[in-house]
Amino acid sequence: MSTTRRDLLTGALTAAGAALVPPAAPADEHGHDHDHSTVPSDPALRVKALESLMVAKGLVDPAALDALIETYEHKVGPHVGARVVARAWVDAAYRARLLANTGAAVAELGVGADDLTVVENTPTTHNLVVCTLCSCYPWSVLGLPPLWYKSAAYRSRAVIDPRGVLEEFGLHLADDVEVRVWDSTAEHRYLVLPERPAGTEGLSESALAALVTRDAMVGIAKLAPPGSAA
Ligand code: FE
Repeated sequence: MSTTRRDLLTGALTAAGAALVPPAAPADEHGHDHDHSTVPSDPALRVKALESLMVAKGLVDPAALDALIETYEHKVGPHVGARVVARAWVDAAYRARLLANTGAAVAELGVGADDLTVVENTPTTHNLVVCTLCSCYPWSVLGLPPLWYKSAAYRSRAVIDPRGVLEEFGLHLADDVEVRVWDSTAEHRYLVLPERPAGTEGLSESALAALVTRDAMVGIAKLAPPGSAA
């Protein structure tokens, strides 16, 4: 039961010498009477317990963990993939290099992604990325995966009925458009190169990058022309 599990986790924290979360101040101490949570959620407790044990055993450096979290919360995200896409749109030679050898081409932009392949959408081909086994995702160019990407429903149905899944995301594809589904693994990830929207001929590379969305780079959406409703 949840109380037992919390007791266990709290015990693990204590055993690891970690500081426990201070109990909430009594209601009258700070002038209002809403509920304060005295114990974090179970997943948060589990993570804290694991982290505390690993730090106590000298297996991880807390500063390294902080740097990793900072990187994936603030520095790495879809804006990185968007730069790659925009460059491919404005530079045909870069696009060719990107499709032929993605790792080397993204390295030109200072991004490390040796295990990445870019797949290109065209008027007749639409690409969709999934990880059927778990949640493998091109972190270096898209950051953290959205919750739906990790859901069992998306992972199973994206391969069984990709058109149906895309419809539910609001993307209708004509019958003559071929849908290709790419199953990511721990060894290899995929990024969709979306079609450049109409009406963007005069935009700069950075303005183009601002149009590119995470969803389009996973393949559950197309990019709308600037200023239009999606
Ligand atoms: Fe996976």
